[in-house]
Amino acid sequence: MHQKPDGDAMGSSLGLYHFLVQLGHKVTVISPTNWANFLNWMPGCKNVVEYDSAKEKAQAILNETDVLFCLDFNVLHRTKHMEAPLQTLNCIKVLIDHHEQPQVAAFQYGISDTSKSSTCEMVYDFIVESGYSSKINTDVAECIYTGLMTDTGSFRFPSTTASVHRIVAHLKEIGLQHSKVHEAIYDSSLENRLRLIGYALLNKMEVYYEYNTCLMSISKQELLRFDIRTGDTEGLVNYLLSIQGIRFGALVIDRDEERKWSFRSKGDFDVNTFARKHFEGGGHFNAAGGRSSDSLENTLKKFKQVIKEYKEQLQ
Ligand code: 5GP
Ligand code: MN
Repeated sequence: MHQKPDGDAMGSSLGLYHFLVQLGHKVTVISPTNWANFLNWMPGCKNVVEYDSAKEKAQAILNETDVLFCLDFNVLHRTKHMEAPLQTLNCIKVLIDHHEQPQVAAFQYGISDTSKSSTCEMVYDFIVESGYSSKINTDVAECIYTGLMTDTGSFRFPSTTASVHRIVAHLKEIGLQHSKVHEAIYDSSLENRLRLIGYALLNKMEVYYEYNTCLMSISKQELLRFDIRTGDTEGLVNYLLSIQGIRFGALVIDRDEERKWSFRSKGDFDVNTFARKHFEGGGHFNAAGGRSSDSLENTLKKFKQVIKEYKEQLQ
């Protein structure tokens, strides 16, 4: 899975894990980095190996790997410090992903389908099309539902197809308690997260009506002040798009090693291309991310400069 895994990355990896172990395979899930606390309830999460904090253990596992499934990312640099070890790894690499522009040469097999709502949907299809529908137990179901729910914005983005609803219906039939998953993910914040959201909406949001764009930034000092941990800023960018008429939302967070961008759009503004062109990033048409090694101040300056090129597109 990609670094700082989200519900879809963790859900697809653990969903596949709970399927493959039933077939007698020896399976290990590796995350490149740590992850948000709101994922810890997931079945199997306790056994996920975190590469950054257990490099030797993870490398030993990689060394004896026959097949490596790469889930919810399609370029090796999305695995951060695992990029180099994965490049030299001589096992079969299988890609299952739904982002734009895969690094095709890095994988021997795989499927890359941007029409899919989530990697979890693809793992579900993979299991069913392999003829193992009967192996979808409640552990698999909870993991797959997590990614379906988080990547579709709780079943409201245009990527929510009839197939997505059919999958959910099937998962319900085998006993999925969907409200348990929803509460575990969305109703498990600590007070500080809500305080940060309130503070940021009041003080850190800049609306550019001439570009139908809304910008927000969070500094290192603010992250410290609100004791913000991995995952606490998840979802913050979506508030920006909830303003009437706003078509482009951009959030930048001053992380230790980089300034990390989240881009969201509505309609025909392509944030994947925007992120690739200006901020070393990528993702989906309406949801992408990027980065900058420059200071927060300069990164914001650059954003305000380049947005001018898109005035017509955004109007
Ligand atoms: P988020 O804003 O939620 O972190 O990311 C939005 C989407 O863009 C996710 O699907 C994520 O995988 C992708 N993404 C985020 N950051 C990057 C990046 O730096 N490079 C690429 N290629 N994709 C990214
Ligand atoms: Mn995804």
